[in-house]
Amino acid sequence: MNCKICNRKAIKNGFCKLHMKAYESVDGKYKIWNKALEISWKEYLSEIVKNPFTGEWAKEVAEYLVKNGEERNVKDC
Ligand SMILES: [Zn+2]
Repeated sequence: MNCKICNRKAIKNGFCKLHMKAYESVDGKYKIWNKALEISWKEYLSEIVKNPFTGEWAKEVAEYLVKNGEERNVKDC
């Protein structure tokens, strides 16, 4: 199975190592944002995409999640 974004070999959740790492950091930051701003996952993702300081990998992940309307896995929050 290949990464849903870049077609490298996927290791977890359909992401390659680099996109998985970016996903984890996007997901981790959401917890902080959500506590401070009560922002929805979708609003948060679009902020990530718009933010010029977002890293390329994280931006690709956020764009993918927005495009595919993927809900956040609420497993640990
Ligand atoms: Zn990838």
